[in-house]
Amino acid sequence: SKTSGKNDFIIYSERLESDVLRKMELEVQLQKAIELNQLSVHYQPKVHLQTKTIVGMEALVRWEHPHLGMISPVEFIPIAEETGLINEIGEWVLRTACVQSKQWQASGYPPLLLSVNVSALQFQNRHFCEVVSSILSETHLQPNHLELEITESIVQNITESVSILKKLKKIGVKCSIDDFGTGYSSLSVLEQLPIDTIKIDKSFIDRLSRGSRSPMVKTIIELGLNLQLNVVAEGIESSSQSTILKEYGCSIGQGYLFSKPINAQHFTELLDALYQK
Ligand code: C2E
Ligand code: CA
Ligand code: CA
Ligand code: CA
Repeated sequence: SKTSGKNDFIIYSERLESDVLRKMELEVQLQKAIELNQLSVHYQPKVHLQTKTIVGMEALVRWEHPHLGMISPVEFIPIAEETGLINEIGEWVLRTACVQSKQWQASGYPPLLLSVNVSALQFQNRHFCEVVSSILSETHLQPNHLELEITESIVQNITESVSILKKLKKIGVKCSIDDFGTGYSSLSVLEQLPIDTIKIDKSFIDRLSRGSRSPMVKTIIELGLNLQLNVVAEGIESSSQSTILKEYGCSIGQGYLFSKPINAQHFTELLDALYQK
């Protein structure tokens, strides 16, 4: 009826208004988040699927606001990108994770490959490569112990991206294409990118649930291997997924099956348990 239509509109508009207000509030609060020590980094292990040994970890930023509670990066990273705060936040995450990684190495754990997410905006910032090299020399982390995860959205500017990737390669850090398969990059673009790894998006891994096979996942893995790239699977939640991935030739995986992202202290305890320290 007419009345309910009108009510729907009111509800919708109120909802819209509260979404806008929430976003405005987060924008304001995010400006102070670093300074007020509200950000932290969690680490999720990357596991060799055959041997189950930890080969690396992905750094994932967390924001805990004293009144608003935990705010997901899915919500605040886009806001950070829109406001340009991503440069500062991304640099903070990179430095924090490199310091932590070096500390684990200094404690005697075998060196792990640290993966850090880099947003397209950060990647295209003209100071990006200098920031990466200065953080590496500051923290004394070996460049080949760092991997940057970028998404396919960077290929919107292919020439520029290739030149940045070449500079990063010269520094000695590794690069991975994150959420692989969800973007729109063509195969010819993939061939041109000087990268080391593709990380298959969780949406593809989800197709392997309850032991079902996926010609698509099999083909993506073969594509990566044929291009001499490392192939990592994200979002593995069951051992049947892990089994099929191994069979398809994927050697490294990440997901709740092995561990959720955990804070540095818990990650240290995990390493302690594994290496009996
Ligand atoms: P992403 O880079 O694809 O990271 C993987 C996300 O999947 C993480 O969510 C992780 O907690 C989650 N995940 C891992 N394994 C599983 C699993 O088995 N099942 C399920 N359901 N989820 C799993 P998170 O930490 O909430 O991060 C979400 C996204 O936010 C990330 O997606 C990334 O795009 C962005 N992000 C997080 N930290 C940073 C950062 O430091 N910088 C930038 N630029 N983006 C970040
Ligand atoms: Ca990632
Ligand atoms: Ca991902
Ligand atoms: Ca993903």
